[in-house]
Amino acid sequence: MSDSEIRSKNFIEEIIEADLASGKHSTIVTRFPPEPNGYLHVGHACSICMNAGLARDYGGRFHLRFDDTNPAREETEYVESIKEDVLWLGADYGEHLYFASDYFEKLYDWACHLIREGNAYVDDSTGEDIRRMRGNLTEPGEESPFRNRSVEENMDLFGRMKAGEFGDGEKVLRAKIDMASPNMNMRDPILYRIAHAHHHRTGDKWSIYPMYDFTHGQSDAIEGITHSICTLEFEDHRPLYNWFIENLPVPSNPRQIEFARVNLSYTVTSKRKLRQLVEEKHVKGWDDPRMPTVSGLRRRGYTPESIQELALRVGVAKRNKVNDLSLLEYCLRQDLEEKAFRRMAVLNPLKVVITNLPEDAAEIYPGPNHPGKPELGEREVVLTREIYIEQEDFMEDPPKKYFRLGPGREVRLRYACYITANEVIKDEAGNITEIRAEMDPESRGASTPDGRRVRGTIHWVSATRNVPIEVRLYENLFLKEDPEGVDPSDNSGKEGSFLDNLNPHSLEVVQAYGEPALESAVAGDRFQFERKGYYCIDPDSMEGALVVNRAVGLRDSWGKKVARPK
Ligand code: ATP
Ligand code: MG
Repeated sequence: MSDSEIRSKNFIEEIIEADLASGKHSTIVTRFPPEPNGYLHVGHACSICMNAGLARDYGGRFHLRFDDTNPAREETEYVESIKEDVLWLGADYGEHLYFASDYFEKLYDWACHLIREGNAYVDDSTGEDIRRMRGNLTEPGEESPFRNRSVEENMDLFGRMKAGEFGDGEKVLRAKIDMASPNMNMRDPILYRIAHAHHHRTGDKWSIYPMYDFTHGQSDAIEGITHSICTLEFEDHRPLYNWFIENLPVPSNPRQIEFARVNLSYTVTSKRKLRQLVEEKHVKGWDDPRMPTVSGLRRRGYTPESIQELALRVGVAKRNKVNDLSLLEYCLRQDLEEKAFRRMAVLNPLKVVITNLPEDAAEIYPGPNHPGKPELGEREVVLTREIYIEQEDFMEDPPKKYFRLGPGREVRLRYACYITANEVIKDEAGNITEIRAEMDPESRGASTPDGRRVRGTIHWVSATRNVPIEVRLYENLFLKEDPEGVDPSDNSGKEGSFLDNLNPHSLEVVQAYGEPALESAVAGDRFQFERKGYYCIDPDSMEGALVVNRAVGLRDSWGKKVARPK
């Protein structure tokens, strides 16, 4: 059963089903149209999952199309990263990879068509004049003095624009629609501008480039897109989108549908701002695990399934709202709880010497890879005379309800045995440096014949047989829920920037120790470090020196806030 059959249908699914029922379309085609000027972020990811999901659920097709009409800002690096991210998210576009620049020739022909029909003209006005004469929301615009050029003159000038005879900004091609339209987008929008710029795919072939609005809908029509789903800011562009479809000999009639952008608290989702974080080195790169980019989330340890789940839970809205960042974390926890192998790692080590074990002891105990899934097999843990436990798992003077280790108290070492602490060793400054403990030899295998109860079970690693790890602990990148918002209590008069809200403690690095089974781990592997959280091996790892990212802790603030939605 598909997702859409379990939950109630959203408004886009209703439109699609009505179109299929009425016979308007026999199959549906959706697309994701990124501009290759940055890496994809979590908002884009939701849009990808939605578009690809609709195509999948209704047996249709999903296209990836690069909206590469702006030669100045676009780079091949971005194209490659976007393709990788889209595929990783499970949105398989198959052979349907397209570039708007593939349609430049066709778009040029269609611009000529508009000129011939008297629907477009070449304007010599400066950019500033054009802006000034556009009017505003309360006042109509003014018609350009070049608006009534003859078809012949327009064809000649437009051809010469294409041939590269004019300098950047000297002329533009505009649609002739209505300078008094209440919709600003309909006031003779610019269709083409001159830019003597190198394009990542067409090279120096073109010296004119089509504007986004003149490209998008026509590209949809060329590809046979049936439902062109975009974010709300394009709502006011829809009449223009339709005007082009109506006034050009396009091969199909796509329909634009808008939905609300996906926003997450403590997060910015604007490529421009994300680029600023990278370029000004507030983070280590686009794939820094603190970034809300798809590549950052992947490196952090997020799974495609967790992001697909987020997209489903966020759903499709008609109004903008901010979703709780903890929802994203919840989706990952749910997924990794099922999938991640369990391992032990000690992040803040305290040495414990088990005095009744010989120096060369190396006792092997089995531990299941997953407590609920015996089919996932076992790993071996190695108990030696010296081990590490977490500093927080020992208290010299513990309160009654503390069920971990303390003087004279007994605790279970996960999978191995019971130990009782006998002696606390301190340095001159009074810091605890070592605990001396004794194991109950009867408790090997982590239970005793007398069946006595031990309240606490703690994780541990051998101090002599372990894998050293650099653990990178991440906190939110921003301190405020709405990093871009203006603080209403701030009357400093100074204009704030989202950078002012950066969390200076978003990354903490600790030297930790992991159990020997982690030796074979490779970049991208995800584990639950028992009692700690979910962690992912970072590509910075080198032979014998693992680097691990904390993806998310075990504590679940979201799950407590809401019951699992039906
Ligand atoms: P940004 O504002 O971050 O630069 P953009 O919209 O300019 O994003 P595009 O590459 O043009 O980036 O976006 C590709 C597609 O992703 C568009 O269809 C856009 O509507 C959609 N999209 C962008 N941001 C979001 C978001 N936060 N939530 C859902 N969809 C989004
Ligand atoms: Mg955009």
